[in-house]
Amino acid sequence: MLGDRDVLVIYDERVLLHRPQAQEPFLPGRMDNRVRGILEGLGMTEAKWSYPEHPGRVTAVHDLLQSNPVPGVHITAGKAATMEQLQRVHTLSYLEHLYDLEGKQAWLDVDTTAISAGSLDAAEVAAGSVIAAVDAVFEKKFHSAFVVSRPPGHHANAVRARGFCLFNNIAVAAAHAQAHWDIERVLIVDWDAHHGNGTQDIFAADPSVMFFDTHRAAPFYPGTGHLEEIGEGLGEGTTINVPLPGDAGDRAIVTAFENILVPAAEWFEPELILVSAGMDAHMSELCLTMTDDGYSALTGIVQRLADTYCNGRLVMALEGGYNPETLARCTRRVLEVLAGADPVEPREPGMAEVAAMTDFHISAFADME
Ligand SMILES: [Zn+2]
Repeated sequence: MLGDRDVLVIYDERVLLHRPQAQEPFLPGRMDNRVRGILEGLGMTEAKWSYPEHPGRVTAVHDLLQSNPVPGVHITAGKAATMEQLQRVHTLSYLEHLYDLEGKQAWLDVDTTAISAGSLDAAEVAAGSVIAAVDAVFEKKFHSAFVVSRPPGHHANAVRARGFCLFNNIAVAAAHAQAHWDIERVLIVDWDAHHGNGTQDIFAADPSVMFFDTHRAAPFYPGTGHLEEIGEGLGEGTTINVPLPGDAGDRAIVTAFENILVPAAEWFEPELILVSAGMDAHMSELCLTMTDDGYSALTGIVQRLADTYCNGRLVMALEGGYNPETLARCTRRVLEVLAGADPVEPREPGMAEVAAMTDFHISAFADME
């Protein structure tokens, strides 16, 4: 029943300090003209373009949880990640380059990643909060946890910021769980509409982390996540990609979870499940065509897997989702299921309505006989 399970939501206002602007200059000494030319080609330097990954995304979620609370959900502030925790997945040289820019405003990468004065503080809190969420479920203070933060993380790899992401929050948390808590196997589920290329890269050769990702197929951004990408070296087999056509929705994605993720988890027997919970697979985002109900159903499946294999240990962290209203609503639906509500079975939109209208109309024709 809704409210039966205690769910931790981490929301920390320090993540609002990350406020990149599309008009930022490049770093001095870089090959500005060429990079600027690429951005202009993408239409990204025009004044009308604004950075889509903005603070209003997470404040919308927080506002909805304040005005329409979910029973069983407890909201607390987060924690900054330490250098030691970040270094488990990022190289020292990448971190040093990033910290050299602390307090500055700059584009880091043509691939839509810029920073503002407070960005590193925000990114440290985004990563550290997923660690705090992992600790909370291991300490059995909560059944599960959801981290409402930004910048997102799943496009960042060991050496590079990409696609609005600075630190790979979910990867940092997985590495922390293995280092700090006595577990071996972590399952990362990524249901964001974009492929989690950074997470895949970081754990490609690591058989102790299984990575399962449903996403819109390449050439959609970031262009990776092909079926054949199954891991590398010792990690061969523990990367699972399910690239989908752009019109795939609830039924297709729920079926992928039931028919591919569930047997994979049975084989892998994870001890912790982490979810890269992007809400941009919703139809309002024009990437895939999921509805609010789809998020409810997916949450039910991963909760069931966590209960079966992980003593319930389940932590989700926000990734994408750029329509603040949909993002807030879908996050709330996920939290309802984590807090004990029954997940909704996905249905084909309009089918129940057509069935009801069929009875109405057909009875009229039957009367004419
Ligand atoms: Zn995304």
